[in-house]
Amino acid sequence: MLASIKQYLKDFDALFFPRVCQSCGRSLVKTESCFCTICIYQLPYTKYHLDQNNKLAKQFWGRLDIASAAAFLYFNKAGKVQNMMHQLKYNNQPQVGVELGKMYGKELVKEFHYNNIEAIIPVPLHPKKFKKRGYNQSEQFAIGLSEIMKIPVYNQILYRDLEKESQTGKSRTLRFDNMEAVFKAEKPNLALNNILLVDDTITTGATLESCALVLQSIGIKKINIVGIAFTE
Ligand SMILES: [Zn+2]
Repeated sequence: MLASIKQYLKDFDALFFPRVCQSCGRSLVKTESCFCTICIYQLPYTKYHLDQNNKLAKQFWGRLDIASAAAFLYFNKAGKVQNMMHQLKYNNQPQVGVELGKMYGKELVKEFHYNNIEAIIPVPLHPKKFKKRGYNQSEQFAIGLSEIMKIPVYNQILYRDLEKESQTGKSRTLRFDNMEAVFKAEKPNLALNNILLVDDTITTGATLESCALVLQSIGIKKINIVGIAFTE
């Protein structure tokens, strides 16, 4: 009896607050979560995790010594990926990040390369943005990856150096030159050698480069980069 009342309330709720696809806006059926089947079928997957010499990884060549770099999707403007990233970042839909993390996690666990990773570290969000948004979108993606890959998320190791950030914020060029100074890393109690550094949309890779440099400075040897989307 109680179960049927619960179902009734759930259906009632769905009537006024229908669950919609966070990519195309279509109503979702019971078996779908976050994205509709059509979108999942049509998303522009990069398959970069299967190719160590992919376009994103090449972007870091000569700049940074990393173990690998991959992104789940291509970020195409005015497309499905742009819609979901908008929902994730500006429309209070943290579950979009978690769902994408779970989807990508299912692909990554199949690959030997990602089998010995000890920690997932999200790129930290500026505290002001965190307060406004209520969550860090990269961390939400990390949570989804963690759930499937069974690797813990460490969100205290890497953080923003706010003092340095306000100093360098004065001039644009100066800010770019001092990018690596904006992040700081705390050496964890447990020695970490092989980690997954997680971002949302990757464009120039400058943020990731700064993060990776400070992580290397605390002794982390193998850094694998993973993003939700890559802007070519
Ligand atoms: Zn859809």
